Amino acid sequence: MFFGTLTLRLIIFRLEWGWLVKVIGLTGGIGSGKSTVSQILAELGVVVIDADKVGHEALKPDTEVWREIVVAFGEDILTSTGDIDRKKLAGRVFRDASSLARLSRIMHPRMYDMVRAQLEGYRRQGTNVVILEAPLLLEAGWTSLVDEVWVTLASESTVLKRLEQRSELSESEALARIGSQLSLLERISRADVVINTDCELKEVRARVWELWQGLQSPKAKRA
Ligand code: ATP
Repeated sequence: MFFGTLTLRLIIFRLEWGWLVKVIGLTGGIGSGKSTVSQILAELGVVVIDADKVGHEALKPDTEVWREIVVAFGEDILTSTGDIDRKKLAGRVFRDASSLARLSRIMHPRMYDMVRAQLEGYRRQGTNVVILEAPLLLEAGWTSLVDEVWVTLASESTVLKRLEQRSELSESEALARIGSQLSLLERISRADVVINTDCELKEVRARVWELWQGLQSPKAKRA
């Protein structure tokens, strides 16, 4: 009887305080502000899973994914230490849709399993909210892993400026990446929440703060 009442109280406590794990998929185009938003959320104490890091883990030498990529793209994709040269690989696949599709077919299922295992771990720990920052969340069909989709966006000219400042890609490489992605409209149509980052950082912070507060009270509505 005592344990029955205790369990009931625990359930009520969870429902009232939102102590149920909620997974937010944070996605958006290249340079649209995903990391900026996830960093603000991490500073607020939210757990973040970074799908890029999961991808790097999956690519480690002698893993199944590593072997399949070497077979698919040849040994010249490797550095002298046997690691996959990610820059070289990206240079190849973002200029050729069939190579990108091939790489996705190799990597996405493994990454999906790895992300799912991490989410299970957080569920077991009773973590309140988890952010899954995944550039390809929609493209890879990972929405089944999340409860809500949050999309960051910025205009193409802002993104190009940001990428130029980071000097990682030439303008033509940046445009090739943008061209290989889902369109802005498609992303927006599939979003539960849109976060515009084409504004001052303090405005982005204020928006994320507002969203974070909404997460603390599960009944609050987010626009
Ligand atoms: P990628 O897809 O390349 O990983 P991303 O979507 O994670 O990019 P960020 O890394 O968050 O995007 O942002 C790209 C760059 O733009 C960063 O240098 C970041 O500091 C800067 N940035 C993002 N939002 C703003 C903003 N509102 N004002 C000024 N700079 C910004």
